[in-house]
Amino acid sequence: MTKILVVDDEEDLEHLIKNMFRKEINNKIYSMIFARNGKEALDLLETNPDVDVILSDINMPVMDGLELLSILNKRDLLLKSVMISAYGDMSSIRNAMNLGAFDFITKPIDRQDLSITIEKTIQTVQQARSSIEMNNKLRLEKDNAEQSEKFKRQFLANMSHEIRTPMNAVLGFTNILLNRNPREDQIFYLDGIKKSSETLLNIINDILDLSKIESGKLELESIAFQLKEIFSQVVNLVKRVSAEKDIEVTSLINDNISVLKGDPTRLFQILMNLAGNAVKFTNKGSVTLQAEYLEEFSKDDFQTIRFSVIDTGIGIPADKQKTIFEKFDQANISDTRNYGGTGLGLSIAKQLVELHNSQIEVESEEGKGTRFSFSIQFQKGHLHNVQETNQTKKMDGSVLNGLKILVVDDVEYNRIIARDTLEMNSNVSIFLASNGQEAIKLLSENDIDVILMDVQMPEMNGYEATMYIRNNFEKPKADVPILALTAGVMREEVEKCKNAGMNDYIPKPFKTSELIGTIAKNLHLKAEYSDTTTKVIEIEKGASNASGITNLEYLIGFCEGNEEKIKKYVKIFIDSSAPLCEKIEKAIQENDAIFIADLLHGSRTKLNMMGMKDQFEKTFVLEEFCRTNGDITEIKNNLLTFVSEIKLASGELKYFSLQGE
Ligand code: ADP
Repeated sequence: MTKILVVDDEEDLEHLIKNMFRKEINNKIYSMIFARNGKEALDLLETNPDVDVILSDINMPVMDGLELLSILNKRDLLLKSVMISAYGDMSSIRNAMNLGAFDFITKPIDRQDLSITIEKTIQTVQQARSSIEMNNKLRLEKDNAEQSEKFKRQFLANMSHEIRTPMNAVLGFTNILLNRNPREDQIFYLDGIKKSSETLLNIINDILDLSKIESGKLELESIAFQLKEIFSQVVNLVKRVSAEKDIEVTSLINDNISVLKGDPTRLFQILMNLAGNAVKFTNKGSVTLQAEYLEEFSKDDFQTIRFSVIDTGIGIPADKQKTIFEKFDQANISDTRNYGGTGLGLSIAKQLVELHNSQIEVESEEGKGTRFSFSIQFQKGHLHNVQETNQTKKMDGSVLNGLKILVVDDVEYNRIIARDTLEMNSNVSIFLASNGQEAIKLLSENDIDVILMDVQMPEMNGYEATMYIRNNFEKPKADVPILALTAGVMREEVEKCKNAGMNDYIPKPFKTSELIGTIAKNLHLKAEYSDTTTKVIEIEKGASNASGITNLEYLIGFCEGNEEKIKKYVKIFIDSSAPLCEKIEKAIQENDAIFIADLLHGSRTKLNMMGMKDQFEKTFVLEEFCRTNGDITEIKNNLLTFVSEIKLASGELKYFSLQGE
């Protein structure tokens, strides 16, 4: 039903129009309401917002038709007005049309003329309405799509973030178990857990990367680097995978390429994704990484490099060459089954290349091979600014020796991993707290050198604890370096840590070198990578276990055969064993069960390092007994045996450390 508002000060007109359209009104095609002037019309519109058409006289008392029109125009109402004017009053009609009237009719009103005009007006109103409805619908759909894309990204980011934390525990514990002399059959299973969790972590990192790139949160770094280093890292990694295949992996770098300035991590990631795929999808032939210097596109301080990753593999069908860059897309449904993968690699590579203002291209022929290429313009860098990447080298933890480190984390697993990793690599004293409040208490009672602080914790979280320390402690404790130990890698979170007063952050799961390096950096200690060219010790299994107490197999593995390091750890053990024995003996005399428990607890990692499996196991039982009984009389002999075993071990190790000198 069309609702028509008739505005006229002449009562006759109301009757006339009602009469004219009696049939339409009776059949409920039209409904009509009447006002005597513009003001009344506006009031009626308040209560009748569903009016479709206005028929309005021009000359009326109180508010005339022109004023009504100009008000309605400003309100941007969708209704259209048809003006009724005296025949010949052209100037009013022109004014009305200028003010936005849709049409006009003249008095005396001709029924047919009015009827056609009303229908025409209604049609236009309906068209306008439906186009607005359509626009609204489209806008709503677009908003919904954007919103759901945003939710999806946020969900992926949150989920991957959440998964990283327990993965930290899985990987960390697996590494610890692998380092604790597992049996052959256990090594097999542990390796399986390790490989699977690494794969899972890679996928999670891919998802996190994608969501970071897509939400514009990824910023490229600008640091000096050597391209040949990146190429050799990629080639080395790829060669490991290709070893079982009949493939030659080579890299070709143009000599004219200088030191470059850019984001080596992201470039590595792009090349690694492409080269990883190349090896994955090639069974025979070669994979080549190529970097050409494009002189014509280089000038002054800039060099443009064209990168290509070329393989002689299965190729990509022409119709798939566009879609493979889409997320989760694989050229063949059977690819996941045959080759593994998630279909994220190329999407990340593409987006990272685009972040460098470039495009990735693919040329491929089925059965012959594939070439992925892209060009990036880099600023030239300087050799003295190149930091050693050292990805394959291990950081020497002895730089932290003597430090008192407080580890704050509500998850026991995480505390143990941080503690064991630190204790295995350096001679440090570790304090453990499971929330901010405990941390504050420990800090007030001890001279802590550095705090590793988890962020999310019950009772008092890491931000609160940090702010408390910064605001309420006296110097120097107020300035103690606090490093966030967090699974969150989003920029906002890192910012939040810094704003709370933390000095730096270490992403979980951390690499040993990252942990040591970040602590050292914040304490202004010079951390060094262990020199992998150091003489690698060749020691037969059980060389030092003449009496069966120590076994250096584990330590050798832990130090990757580095003789210097092995000797250092042995020395630490020997040096600390005499004072330890003395303390335990004294405490036995004084029946100080709790102190003995602490000493046993503290000695555990060192015993493990020296392969003293039996004694290592004993510490758990003895410690537990001391803590629960508070009296050592019953286990005095066991404790004395324990002490003598340490002395024996120390003698054994002294003999070992004298060898070869
Ligand atoms: P994934 O390798 O994890 O499946 P990617 O995004 O890296 O995911 O690759 C998407 C798909 O593109 C692959 O599944 C494969 O079908 C195809 N593809 C990528 N690189 C190559 C290549 N070098 N040779 C043949 N096919 C390839």
